[in-house]
Amino acid sequence: MSHVVVIGAGQAGSSLVAKLRSSGFDGDITLIGAESVPPYQRPPLSKAYLLGDMAEERLYLRPAAFYADNNITLRLDTHATAINSRAKTVTLSDGSTLPYDKLALTTGSVPRTLPAAVGGTLDGVFSVRDLKDANAMAPAFVAGKKVLVIGGGYIGLEAAAVASKLGLHVTLVEMGDRILQRVAAPQTSDFFRSLHMSHGVDIRESVGLDRLLGDTRVAGARLTDGTELDVDFAIVGVGIVPATALAQTAGLTVDNGIVTNDHTQTSDPDIYAAGDCATLIFRGQTIRIESVGNAIDQAEVAAQNIGGADVIYTPTPWFWSDQYDCKLQIAGLNTGYDTVHVRMADTGQSHWYYHGDTLLAVDAMNDPRNYMVGKRLIAAGRSPTPAQITNPDTDMKALLKP
Ligand SMILES: Cc1cc2nc3c(=O)[nH]c(=O)nc-3n(C[C@H](O)[C@H](O)[C@H](O)COP(=O)(O)OP(=O)(O)OC[C@H]3O[C@@H](n4cnc5c(N)ncnc54)[C@H](O)[C@@H]3O)c2cc1C
Repeated sequence: MSHVVVIGAGQAGSSLVAKLRSSGFDGDITLIGAESVPPYQRPPLSKAYLLGDMAEERLYLRPAAFYADNNITLRLDTHATAINSRAKTVTLSDGSTLPYDKLALTTGSVPRTLPAAVGGTLDGVFSVRDLKDANAMAPAFVAGKKVLVIGGGYIGLEAAAVASKLGLHVTLVEMGDRILQRVAAPQTSDFFRSLHMSHGVDIRESVGLDRLLGDTRVAGARLTDGTELDVDFAIVGVGIVPATALAQTAGLTVDNGIVTNDHTQTSDPDIYAAGDCATLIFRGQTIRIESVGNAIDQAEVAAQNIGGADVIYTPTPWFWSDQYDCKLQIAGLNTGYDTVHVRMADTGQSHWYYHGDTLLAVDAMNDPRNYMVGKRLIAAGRSPTPAQITNPDTDMKALLKP
């Protein structure tokens, strides 16, 4: 009987153990989680949960009883501190060691924080990564309060949308030229800038934070253009870094994530990795994808291979974001795009990214039909011409016909 140990009880870890069991593996499975709650979904932490529209139990990916019912040992409040890949053991925070036959790392990522020197450790400065963060921050969301959001990526924008909906005064600073610069085309940035401005959010681009002001608690902020703001609390949304410290104790190859091959195996063939912490191979390049869809798919492939199958991981990236009444759906990865073509629909619009003649990705804002068309075209490796996309008379569904 063999023992599979999975470290990191989040989206990928939970998917991995569930798939391992459902695909017939009958050995021992242990899932180790540093947090005190069963694996849960993070996206609502900056959306419905933060807004107060969702109970904590609804975040859980599977009922707490699922793990025992499936003979999976779930050890919460437990940190894996080291891996001895020769002895094939994991050291846990209670000092015990756990032997494994196969190991999977699904340790996720950690948010970038601001240094103490710029006020990053003052009270009232929050990150949004886990349930504890969301619970710590939620009481500050009181109508009339002033919040500064640092960083104009999806998480910062979603938190800004929640704050604005709850009646707070919101200022968002983005040091890049435009919000969403790292992840989206100017057309998508323009769309979300207008959306936020129409809800009264004060978006300032090409302006960074010089420092947060206050003795023990944040009370203000000085921006790089010299402006000073009164602030009741601040949210830092300046990206994440993959959680690779544990992998390094095992001597695994790490390069902006735990390096995995197309079978989700790390540089040690008995250790697999999946989710935010792991690299993957996409269009011949080694990258990381920070999304729920990737965490699930990559983890399920790891589970199958751990169980003895021979499955290659072929990522089909997709992502979403909710801001106010706008649902953004993204299919594909736009890395390397050179043109973007806009299609207007009755309910919304979609932005189609091309490299030459090849369709790479679609951002669809309140436009689920064109999202589905784009997703299926990308999955099939088919590229309509940009003229077909922008022509309002094109029957988009017909593009799917062989
Ligand atoms: C606020 C927020 C909003 C998001 N919105 C979206 C969205 O709209 N759409 C989307 O696709 N994606 C979204 N994401 C991203 C998505 O949630 C992540 O990509 C996904 O959770 C990654 O899953 P994971 O299992 O790799 O990591 P996680 O879900 O982060 O799980 C990793 C777990 O490992 C644990 N861990 C780490 N090290 C150890 C250790 N040494 N010992 C024990 N346990 C350990 C951590 O405590 C954590 O519980 C969002 C993320 C956040 C934070």
